[in-house]
Amino acid sequence: MKKHIIIVGGGFAGINLIKSLKNDERFEITLIDKNNYHFFPPLIYQVATSFIQASNISYPFRRMISKFRNVRFHMGNLIKVVSETKTVETDTGNLSYDYLVLALGTESNFFGMENVQRCALPMKSITEALYLRNHMLLTLEEAARNKDMKAAGLLQNIVIAGGGPTGVELAGMLAEMGKYIAEKEYPEIKLGLSNLYLIDALPTLLSPMSEMAQKTSYETLEKLGVKIILNVSVKDYIDNKVILSDGRSIETETLIWTSGVIGREVPGIPKEAIGRGRRILVDGYNEVEGMRNIYAVGDICLQLTEKKISKRASSTGAGSHTASA
Ligand SMILES: Cc1cc2nc3c(=O)[nH]c(=O)nc-3n(C[C@H](O)[C@H](O)[C@H](O)COP(=O)(O)OP(=O)(O)OC[C@H]3O[C@@H](n4cnc5c(N)ncnc54)[C@H](O)[C@@H]3O)c2cc1C
Repeated sequence: MKKHIIIVGGGFAGINLIKSLKNDERFEITLIDKNNYHFFPPLIYQVATSFIQASNISYPFRRMISKFRNVRFHMGNLIKVVSETKTVETDTGNLSYDYLVLALGTESNFFGMENVQRCALPMKSITEALYLRNHMLLTLEEAARNKDMKAAGLLQNIVIAGGGPTGVELAGMLAEMGKYIAEKEYPEIKLGLSNLYLIDALPTLLSPMSEMAQKTSYETLEKLGVKIILNVSVKDYIDNKVILSDGRSIETETLIWTSGVIGREVPGIPKEAIGRGRRILVDGYNEVEGMRNIYAVGDICLQLTEKKISKRASSTGAGSHTASA
């Protein structure tokens, strides 16, 4: 009897797992995703800034798996995992599994700030990138029509919250657009009245990266005219004003949120199995803590490898390197 593996989430992690199990006669695989396409997040900022089309970084799942004999696709949003009956519930039907792999990735973390969550513009999915692109293009048009120069300038203010790789890339792209494209294509707009801010709560940009990357990104963006504000966090966003932790506020209709992520919530996974950043705790085999036949891979999981491998190895009597999954 073939075992049925359900993989929820066709991002990097889910697709790589499928590639390694494709055409393996022992398994029937069902990929579940809420979208019908895989996409490449590292280039999403280019979609948001109109440099490339969404179709340049996305590809239909069905076309991708059409050559794999043992893989099927089910489009649906995961609602719940019912481990007792080995079932997943989606908004388009329920499916049974022998093994379940959760690969749903992360979502934007708004740190509990409701106004920010409601009104800021995140950039984690193609839908969000397209929304951001349209918002910026329409705001530019509004600024071009506005005869009041000061008001037009304020309309073009952009605040990016989060100086990690996404915020830095986006700031660079927008600054270059302002310098080289807006000047030609929007002659009605008086340049120099608006500002592009990049804000981070930490003392450097790109904090997990090398000192050289931190320094170079800072200097390059500064040269491009980006106003970098460090050691300050966004506290609220009220009436188109970004409120900062040092008491300052910045008027803008465009607050772009690139400030961090948390694991996606998976109802049915007990809270004991959820760790820092809402990541699902897994052992050395990526099996979810305290659950059988449910695994988590990619950004949604937090792996405590050594501890769990040795635990399982001792319970099977095998050495940690020879214990097989
Ligand atoms: C703007 C941006 C730039 C990045 N740049 C880089 C980079 O340069 N280098 C790098 O290494 N990493 C980069 N990353 C991080 C990288 O994209 C992630 O580490 C990677 O995508 C994680 O893969 P994953 O499969 O765990 O999750 P994801 O790629 O997020 O995939 C999750 C999948 O689950 C699906 N899904 C979510 N919720 C549900 C649900 N309820 N039901 C069904 N399906 C669902 C989604 O549709 C998606 O297909 C970047 C991320 C972003 C957002």
